[in-house]
Amino acid sequence: MPPYPPEFVKFLGTAGSRFVVSKQLRASGGLWVRLAGQTVWVDPGPGALVKAYGSRPRLDPETVDVVLVSHKHIDHANDVNVIIEAMTHGGHRPRGTLLAPRDALYEDSPICEYILSYIGQAQPLEDNGAYSFGDLTVRVAARHDHPGETYGFLLEGGGARLGLLTDTRYFESLAEHYASAEVLIINCVLEENPDHRIYHLDWRDAENIIAAIRPRQAVLTHFGMRLLQAKPWEIVEGMSQRLGLEVLAARDGMALEVGPATAREG
Ligand SMILES: [Zn+2]
Repeated sequence: MPPYPPEFVKFLGTAGSRFVVSKQLRASGGLWVRLAGQTVWVDPGPGALVKAYGSRPRLDPETVDVVLVSHKHIDHANDVNVIIEAMTHGGHRPRGTLLAPRDALYEDSPICEYILSYIGQAQPLEDNGAYSFGDLTVRVAARHDHPGETYGFLLEGGGARLGLLTDTRYFESLAEHYASAEVLIINCVLEENPDHRIYHLDWRDAENIIAAIRPRQAVLTHFGMRLLQAKPWEIVEGMSQRLGLEVLAARDGMALEVGPATAREG
């Protein structure tokens, strides 16, 4: 099995609605990101730990530096507890950082209070906040329009800029917040969302955002049932042709190289 590239995103899950998650039509383990010498586990939903150990090559939770939670919904935060136990040798070796919205840390949340004492530090996310880990900066791109406190991120380091546009309803300035992203990963749950009634993006919203930003590469993930039935891998083909840039539909287990363009071409 080939090793992972030095900087990559591994999709430990691409499920994005209650039904797709609870029936495990797609997995829901979140994103494993290796960038600028740091390892970040983003939104570890149900099955995250199992998916990491089951990956080939295997991913070791004891190497995780940061657990990053966009919001406290179960498909984004369910496995935070067990991951922190795995990262910290059952709590005996406190290390690493948990970044999560305040309402996920200190209010009713899937994250257990006693688990918070195992991690090196738990830090609440602030709107416009930036957090440094060695050469990596985790920047809050925007507070999103989604139930509860929800933040999207820009991960910057080693010349790479990765946008993680998590659950949200479309709003006018949304694309601006991710304008610097070279690789943009978008949670695109819906096939359609008339009048933006539901607090998620549909694929037309995603296409508008990609058209506004024109990243080097865009990836749709976090699919709901109807969107899966509509075959996201076909939807992105049309998008790629219309926009003249690379748009992918994530698959469970997909590893995407995200290093800076110069490193990839050199
Ligand atoms: Zn959500």
